Order: sequence, then C-alpha cells, then structure tokens
Amino acid sequence: MTVGAGQTAEEARREHIAEMILRLRQVGITDRRVVSAIEAAPRDLFVPNESRRDAYAERALPIDCGQTISAPVIVGMMTSALDVGERDRVLEIGTGTGYQTAILARLAKQVFTIDRFRTLVAAAESRFRTLRLTNITTLVGDGMKGWPEKGPYDRVIVTAAGETVPEALWKQVRLGGVLVMPVGPADGVQKLMRYERGEDGYTGKALGEVRFVPLIPGKAERL
Ligand code: SAH
Repeated sequence: MTVGAGQTAEEARREHIAEMILRLRQVGITDRRVVSAIEAAPRDLFVPNESRRDAYAERALPIDCGQTISAPVIVGMMTSALDVGERDRVLEIGTGTGYQTAILARLAKQVFTIDRFRTLVAAAESRFRTLRLTNITTLVGDGMKGWPEKGPYDRVIVTAAGETVPEALWKQVRLGGVLVMPVGPADGVQKLMRYERGEDGYTGKALGEVRFVPLIPGKAERL
C-alpha cells in the first residue's frame, strides 16, 4: 500500500478498502452484510510483507507454503454465493492466510477451518487473535475428509480446486445447505460451483471461471 503525503497508514487502508468495495459493487456484490464483513477484514494484515503494497490489488498473491490468497473479487463472489446466515455453522477447507475465514467469521455463528499446513494455520490463528475473532476453530489436517465430529454444516466452502467434490464433504452438508468450490483440473481453469443440497440430491450452478491452487490429499508432512 502506498502512503501519500500526510496520509496515515489507517487512512490509506480505508481508501484501498473503499476502492475494493467499489470493484465488488461493479460485479454485483452489494449485499450489506457481505460488504460490511469484507470491509472489516484488513487484507494487508493477511498478505506477506513483500506483497503488502499490493494487498488490495485485484489479483491473487503468493503466500507461504507455495499457496495463494485469492483476488478480492473472487473472495467476494465466493462469500456472496455461500449466502451465510448469522446462525450458520460453516466449514472451510483451505485456511491459507485466514482472510476468507475472517470474513466468514463476521457473517456466521461459528467457522471451522482446516488446512494441511501447520505453518499457515498457526499464522492465521495469530491474526484471528489480533482481530479478536473468537468464533473460529482451526484444525491441521486433511480437509478432504471434512470434520465429521463437528458437522453437519449449514455451509461448506472449499478454497482449493478439485476434479470433483470429495465424497466426505457432501455427507457433511445439512439438507438445504450450500457448498461452494472450484471444480476442475488442477493445472487449468476451474468452474466456481455452488451446490445446494435438496431432498433428491444436489443441484449445482456454475458461477464463473477461476484458477485455484489444487486440493491435495493428506496432511502436509513438514511445515
Ligand atoms: N482462502 C485462503 C487461501 C487458500 S489457498 C485465504 O483466504 O488466504 C488454498 C489452501 O488450501 C492452501 O492453504 C492449501 O494448503 C489448502 N489445502 C489444499 N489441500 C488441502 C487439504 N486436503 N486439506 C486442507 N487444506 C488443503
């Protein structure tokens, strides 16, 4: 982030956030609750130091462990598609920096988030403490198995791409619940999918084309 003459870091942040919200509006993300939750998450706190000046730019940025934080508009689209109610329990696969988690925490009753890298989970937890977000429970493990002990969930969001939705995750969505995930090849373009669980199975809708890092089975051995 660039700080202009006489501008404090906080003023600069507010300006960057306002510009980001404007871009979200341009793609139709206007829901009050969603916009406020995004406004309340200081994205610069989540990106690595070397990317801080680009924290609010409209693109994905590299983070630790060879992963990426999604571009603001993609985060906005996923948050808005998930349609989180204040009484909802949400399961998130792919904590990464915890940016998407922090946004969900302002919308939901409780967020359960899993990443396969201990390093990422530890850094995300420390950000949640800084922001005083107390309704997030983390787990280092294989998110492809979900977290059955805490389920079923009203909402499930996967922020890494897979060829198909892992079987275990389908089972942890309650009837009437929603699952959002990028579905497609690991090294190509995926479709951002929104599924709703009904009496007779799932109905899916493609929301657009995206590129996410892949969902990888198993807990990371090191890191
Ligand atoms: N939403 C994050 C970015 C996620 S990047 C943010 O806002 O910063 C995708 C994440 O999915 C990576 O951190 C990666 O480690 C994680 N991931 C990939 N496969 C996984 C698996 N099987 N279980 C849990 N996490 C996984």
